[in-house]
Amino acid sequence: MGICRICGKPTTSHRIGAYFVCHDCWEKRKGEVEKLRTELKKKVEASLNALTKNEKDGMKLMGIVQKFALNFDDEIKTALKEYRYSVEDENRFIVFLNYFTFERELESRGKTPAELFMEEYDMPDWVAENIKKFQTPVKGFFEVKEVLPQSRFIVQDIFNKKEYLLCGEINLKKGDFIGDEIYPWEDVYLTGGAISLYTDEDAEKFLKMAEEFEKLIEKSIEKQKEVYSKFLEYFGKDDPVFDSIDSAEDALDKFTSWMEGGEGGKKIEEEKEGDIGIVCHPSSGIYVVPDYGKFKRMMEGREAADREYAEKIMKEMPYPVIKKLSEDKNFAKLIKEVFGKDITEENLDDFMKKIRPDW
Ligand SMILES: [Zn+2]
Repeated sequence: MGICRICGKPTTSHRIGAYFVCHDCWEKRKGEVEKLRTELKKKVEASLNALTKNEKDGMKLMGIVQKFALNFDDEIKTALKEYRYSVEDENRFIVFLNYFTFERELESRGKTPAELFMEEYDMPDWVAENIKKFQTPVKGFFEVKEVLPQSRFIVQDIFNKKEYLLCGEINLKKGDFIGDEIYPWEDVYLTGGAISLYTDEDAEKFLKMAEEFEKLIEKSIEKQKEVYSKFLEYFGKDDPVFDSIDSAEDALDKFTSWMEGGEGGKKIEEEKEGDIGIVCHPSSGIYVVPDYGKFKRMMEGREAADREYAEKIMKEMPYPVIKKLSEDKNFAKLIKEVFGKDITEENLDDFMKKIRPDW
């Protein structure tokens, strides 16, 4: 039971931040309720303005937003019922609360508590940016690889082997397994105040899953290698061009049935000056790329280069295809011709990042 901040009566009727207000005061002493709200807003905004970029303040910010999320009692009850784990201790509750605060949209508002928090309070832009990042934590199952001083840990995702520098006051030792979400903060990751520690039995189960996952990836890499060599055998190159989508698709169909040992052994010749490319990438698969032929002719200086067109194609081409083309020295030559920029191996990536964010 809380205490009404205005009259002192026991109550849980209404909440303003961490304060309770009884129903009587809520209805009849609106001026004081408003004052309380302003007071709280000032207090919260003062602490938001005082934040720095160190990890402790990152944790503090998570706590401030969590506290705001606690106002939505009814939705917390609903969310707990739907939650995929049972919340049997405090640690687990904080893991749940992070999910509730940053990821789950409130049924009544269609927004996460974190989004409502950003609407309610004024804060420096960089703080708002970081709250937005909390909404997309890294999810995974991690092994603690190294314990560093000052509550820092190197953890590794057991599935994709990516390593993260994790910060948080939590008792972990080398070889422990932890799960759920870690939250980006500047150039490190935060535990969010709690993290699920797994039993050896759980860990074994996850490791087995990881192993199967790896096998699956290996299998698909092998399969792709096989497709690539068949493609080369059939077309004589990995990027034949055709003059219409229809003829490209037709060629692709015939190749597929030939590769699978079905009908037709007849190889289809490419049409030398076509625009539609069928590009087979050694590890990513087969792509039909509409402007491939023209772009390549521009690269080779066989067709006049046009800046607008080149830029459009560089943006739209599937990533593995353009990435592979960029390894050709003619790619840098084309950039120089149309953008007037001298591109070397060292600055190519910087230039491409400006054109496409996925580079
Ligand atoms: Zn009251």
